[in-house]
Formats: sequence, C-alpha cells, structure tokens
Amino acid sequence: MSRERNRNAEREEQLGMPWTSACNKLKKEVLFYLLKRHKENICYRCGCEIDDIKSLSIDHKTRWFNSETPKKLFWDMENILFSHRECNCIHGIRSYRGDDAEHIEQKPESFEWCSRCRKFLPLEVFTNHVNKRRRRQVEQYCRSCQSVMRKEKVLKNK
Ligand SMILES: [Zn+2]
Ligand SMILES: [Zn+2]
Repeated sequence: MSRERNRNAEREEQLGMPWTSACNKLKKEVLFYLLKRHKENICYRCGCEIDDIKSLSIDHKTRWFNSETPKKLFWDMENILFSHRECNCIHGIRSYRGDDAEHIEQKPESFEWCSRCRKFLPLEVFTNHVNKRRRRQVEQYCRSCQSVMRKEKVLKNK
C-alpha cells in the first residue's frame, strides 16, 4: 500500500466514513453555516427559510442541462441560487417536460406556493408568519399540510 493510501485508510478509520464523503460533507456544512450567518439561507423559489441542511439544494436560475452553453451556465456564480430540495425537484420535472416553469414569476395574484402540495393555493389557506426577514408573508406550507406534518412529527416522536 502506498503512503497516500495508508493515510486515507487512517483518516477513514478515525472519521468512520470514506474520506471523499467526509470532505464533501464538510464543504456542504461550511456552505450552509455561512449561508445562515449571512442570512442567505432563503429558498428563492418559495421565499422561505431553509432551516435544514438536508433540504438545501444548489439551484441554477437558468437550466444548464441540454442548454447551448452547459459549461458556462453550470459554473456561472451569477446563475447559482439556493432552494429547498422539495421546491427544486418539482422545477426539475417541469423543465424536463419543456415548459421551463419558474413558479415564482408565474405566481398568480393573492396565491402562494405550498412546498408540500407543490402547487399555488389562495393566501387564505396559509398562516401569516412573523419572521420579517423572509421574503414572503406566509408560511412555507399551507395550513392543512402544517397540521399533517405536525401529526407526523408527533407520531415519529412517540
Ligand atoms: Zn422552497
Ligand atoms: Zn399544502
């Protein structure tokens, strides 16, 4: 075994995980930490706070995949935004179908996006939130989703 391989084996043993996974995980943790510190952990698709690293996803404003300039769009920092994984996925599916739906731009008047229903719902079915630093005035999930999620959480804790 070469010296380098030996060292990686020692690292993996001490960290209890593959060395490259540990490096990638650390980079993501640092990114999330800095985003929170700069109060930029806001999902640009739904406008709500990203409070769990597991749902943090790096998003491209303009789709790079199958574009005319994939390398340019992929690495362009001006094209990078952050979103909830849940909010990003639905976008991916829509883009894939061809209609590059930017639901933020297409938001109907007095409607808001529910990240769980994954559709626009009238503002009345949302609870207003008090956190003023968020860009939108209501919660990320509609009231019925909130109550379902609350129940799910309760069940999980039991
Ligand atoms: Zn979101
Ligand atoms: Zn909902």
